[in-house]
Amino acid sequence: MSHALDLTVMMYHYIRDPGDVAEAGSGIPGLPVKTFEAQLDGLAKQYTFVTWPDVRLALQEEKPLPGSACLLTFDDGVCDHYFNAFRILRERKLSGLFFVMDRHDADGLILAHKIHFLLAKLGLIALRDAIWEKLNSGQREQFLQAEKKYRLRYPPVSLDSQINLLKAVLQRDLSGEVDPILSDLFADYVGSESEMARSYYLNRDQSREMVAGGMHFGGHSRSHPWFDWIDAEARTKEIKASADWVGQFEPGPWAFAYPYGGLSDDSPNLLEEHGFLAAFTTRTQLHHINPYLIGRLDGEEVAQEGQGYA
Ligand SMILES: [Zn+2]
Repeated sequence: MSHALDLTVMMYHYIRDPGDVAEAGSGIPGLPVKTFEAQLDGLAKQYTFVTWPDVRLALQEEKPLPGSACLLTFDDGVCDHYFNAFRILRERKLSGLFFVMDRHDADGLILAHKIHFLLAKLGLIALRDAIWEKLNSGQREQFLQAEKKYRLRYPPVSLDSQINLLKAVLQRDLSGEVDPILSDLFADYVGSESEMARSYYLNRDQSREMVAGGMHFGGHSRSHPWFDWIDAEARTKEIKASADWVGQFEPGPWAFAYPYGGLSDDSPNLLEEHGFLAAFTTRTQLHHINPYLIGRLDGEEVAQEGQGYA
């Protein structure tokens, strides 16, 4: 596995239109379905689409990839991927690689998704205020310190930047403290979190149907933490849970995608020990030296910029 890989990997999250079965009135935006289809049309002109098993064979040095190869990947196991992505890929006889969390019936939403719902419902200012109300004085101090730290990276120049600042504070420094708080707010402002989680994420039946339809699954941890924010023991648990989950749907070795693209030095070894052959980041990169640091292009950013893929 010493050879470098030239591969354009597209990364997608939500693919939905207002009012469709995936968006379901939540107000959470995503890449419009028509934009996704247009992007596939554009990619088809420039690239040869490859599947995860093609990439696996290339990494195992059994069969090289074609020139101008493109792999389609989808993060977070949301139902958009069954209702919109799978439907469209199947029509075009294409395959996708879907990175899903280890999910159980009693699980609620991951922290990042609770934030999406509450931001759509309350907006940034009211959400920050509502969380602030529920923090104790020690947590408020921690919150302000974290805001100060991330403000260099996310200066208050746009609404997006301010949202990213709040997300960094909540998803990293205060993740343990705010997770139950966000569940309380979800109950107050949105509804039953467990019911929402059941319809929001791919269930076993949908996943099996997708596998039967030529799709592939990879790991994306259990609770979706920043890997550089948790300790090695927690990372091991997250990766092991992923191997157990993905193993239900397809034989390994598997692919993995780092939650939020967060990296830690021990992750490649831990992933290899647990049956993962490759891992994907959120770094923009088309030439990959390390199979555990394969970069990707964000389909939503490409669509906003209206640029090509090279
Ligand atoms: Zn993710």
